[in-house]
Amino acid sequence: MNFENTLIFAQSLDQADPLREFRQDFLFPNQNGKPFIYLCGNSLGVQPKAAREVLNEQLNNWENLAVEGWFEGETPWMFYHKKLKKMMAPLVGASAAEVCPMNTLTVNLHLLMVSFYKPTSSRFKIIMEAGAFPSDQYAIESQVRFHGYDPSIAIIEVAAREGEYTLRTEDITSAIAENGNDIALVLFGGVNYFTGQWFDMDAITKAGHEVGAVVGFDLAHAAGNVPLKLHDWGVDFACWCSYKYQNSGPGGISGIFVHEKHFSDAKMNRFAGWWGYQEEQRFKMEKGFLPEAGADGWQVSCTQVMPMALYYAALQSFEKAGFMEPLREKSKSLTAYLFFVVNEVNKALGNEQYKIITPITEADRGAQVSIIAKQKGKEVFQELVANNVLGDWREPNVIRLSPVPLYNSFEDVFTMGALLLDISKRIL
Ligand SMILES: *Cc1c(COP(=O)(O)O)cnc(C)c1O
Repeated sequence: MNFENTLIFAQSLDQADPLREFRQDFLFPNQNGKPFIYLCGNSLGVQPKAAREVLNEQLNNWENLAVEGWFEGETPWMFYHKKLKKMMAPLVGASAAEVCPMNTLTVNLHLLMVSFYKPTSSRFKIIMEAGAFPSDQYAIESQVRFHGYDPSIAIIEVAAREGEYTLRTEDITSAIAENGNDIALVLFGGVNYFTGQWFDMDAITKAGHEVGAVVGFDLAHAAGNVPLKLHDWGVDFACWCSYKYQNSGPGGISGIFVHEKHFSDAKMNRFAGWWGYQEEQRFKMEKGFLPEAGADGWQVSCTQVMPMALYYAALQSFEKAGFMEPLREKSKSLTAYLFFVVNEVNKALGNEQYKIITPITEADRGAQVSIIAKQKGKEVFQELVANNVLGDWREPNVIRLSPVPLYNSFEDVFTMGALLLDISKRIL
């Protein structure tokens, strides 16, 4: 499409957007009585209006039913997660049995590594992306140590080439092939938090399986952002948080995926707890752990009803929108428009003041655009915030902006661009 850098043009795209009404379903933070243009859904999604009501329902159940709420009421807490599983599955391309809401992300990453990182003296390495989100680095490092290996030997990081910001798929797959006999686990992000690069998950999964390794993904920045086909790709396991692109609130509940091919493996290690025990027999309180079938068997503690209620409220908008396909369609043009608008700012300034490091290729990115600000980045960012545009800042010089198809508009993107130009002219 030929974009134009005008308000009229942005508004015409909004007029033609079949998802334009969804914005009404969310609440935006204010500053000086004016709502923010919120471009930070990669970090924390805004509040769905339905959240308060759904949470209230459960507060009422707690008030009126107390302990009986586990089995009584419209949605007994004991089975509440089943409502979510149905809605989580299409977001990640899985069956309902393959997914389960529980815990928080890093905790789940650990629990899944207990099952899926099975090092032996000849095959103990983990291959991952360099510059992964720190929590993943720490989790992987500590798992390796827990098994008695030295992280500096056991962890292989695939890095971008000199002078490049993002990884080339061929470099990832050849690193997997070259180290094939040593690799126990391939563990990548779906979308990298810093650059916004969406990795070729299908190719990575194939490469990992070709050398006999297990393949898992951290989908913190991918789930709810880009369409996924975890089952069809044959991914072994994955987990995500729901508070970024899925709007379930700060510290919201995490989701896990375990491919059904692993369901029959009774010998698989796991850190068990009563909530992973066979549902029918759970309250017999007997000795000897028998896991519930499917992903539910990885649950450990009593299910978290309040965070699940918030996740349920958030998932309703995905369901109403028709899940990822329509959202991805809008996301592609919204993000392309953001690329365009930033490049227009550069043109007007006469230099590449704002260098986009997110891949320009549509298939290699989601909603996030990461921009290196060549001078005074922090000040520019603070001026954006002072003028009601909320993105986020990553040291030393990166501004991340994420136009989210559920609640951002083309006008949001245009207004951000106009402001960025204004600020740049004023302070650079
Ligand atoms: C946001 C994010 C996390 C955060 O983990 P929590 O356990 O929810 O705090 C972890 N990993 C990645 C890749 C992330 O983007």
